[in-house]
Amino acid sequence: MTTLCRDCASLATAPAGGRCAACRSPRLMSHPEIETLSLAHIDCDAFYASVEKRDHPELLDRPVIVGGGTRGVVLACCYVARLSGVRSAMPMFKARHACPDAVVIAPDMTKYRTVGRQVHELMRQATPLVQPLSIDEAFLDLAGAAEGPPARTLALLARQIEREIGVTVSIGLSYNKFLAKIASDLDKPRGFAAIGRAEALDFLGPRSVSLIWGVGAALQRKLAQDGIGTIAELRAHPERALVARYGTIGRRLARFSRGEDDRAVEPDQPTKSISAETTFTHDIAPYEALAEELRPLCDSVAHRLQRANKAATGVTLKLKTSDFQVLSRSRKLADPTQRAEILYRAVLPLLRAEADGTAYRLIGIGADRLAEAVLADPPDLFARPTE
Ligand SMILES: [Mg+2]
Repeated sequence: MTTLCRDCASLATAPAGGRCAACRSPRLMSHPEIETLSLAHIDCDAFYASVEKRDHPELLDRPVIVGGGTRGVVLACCYVARLSGVRSAMPMFKARHACPDAVVIAPDMTKYRTVGRQVHELMRQATPLVQPLSIDEAFLDLAGAAEGPPARTLALLARQIEREIGVTVSIGLSYNKFLAKIASDLDKPRGFAAIGRAEALDFLGPRSVSLIWGVGAALQRKLAQDGIGTIAELRAHPERALVARYGTIGRRLARFSRGEDDRAVEPDQPTKSISAETTFTHDIAPYEALAEELRPLCDSVAHRLQRANKAATGVTLKLKTSDFQVLSRSRKLADPTQRAEILYRAVLPLLRAEADGTAYRLIGIGADRLAEAVLADPPDLFARPTE
């Protein structure tokens, strides 16, 4: 069975002594379907509280509650506070009683929205198919989004979110939205859980019908009156009977009980740009070496353009110097493109102008001003003599 290291993202078949052979990390993830599952739900851990801890490192080991204010309920609580029984949506007076030494912080929604947008933006670098569900969670469809198994892309994304934004996430990986969302909750915080096709029925069987999206308290009561408490009991009834008794939701009850959910991941906003970048182990100055680094990035961007059904009408080169100065240079393309080679040739003159001996620590390329794919690469482009 393939094992993924969640710290260094290396894949191995037989981990020695429960640790990663490459980096010795014990944070391994293995699953028989790890190579093929590609639908993910990512949820930030105790999001508001994590952002506050990030901004107030002295609170790292303290119980932190974000809440109070006019609503008087707990909006978020860290995992230390949860040990004392504090929960989201609990009235503040109860929370203070359960955890008298908690640090209570008034919510700063503007800040959380900004951080949430940053998290979503990193997700969109992994795949254009990101559907945010709220400020701190989203579905991602990673089928064909990158080289290698989606699980590996997800481990790298989780690490990037931790390093660059300073909050942790939990990942649920499966083959549809229903199960991915359940999975992200199985291993919190900083979790990574997968539910595969082979295990879905056994996994769901003993669980409560309330796990099914759309089953609220009223429907759950009605089902209980009919002797249906678990998903296995639901499965015993044919779809037609469930629709006849419970209305249109009967169809979903039947499908979800069998682990079937065909809802697609629907991005909430048009993709404005698709980019890829890489940070070097050692700073690089020569033009030729920098140009070589751009090649795989152009391949990745072209691949993602094709997958998103988009074409670039402009390219942007991004460089970061060894002292962290970021510069970006853009140009318009003659025709919209989805082709790596055209992106590469378009970005080289921009690089040529900046490769003046300066040492760079990062290089990136972005495909900008995206147009619909039907406009991409008009056929006469390749008949035209090279300019
Ligand atoms: Mg969350």
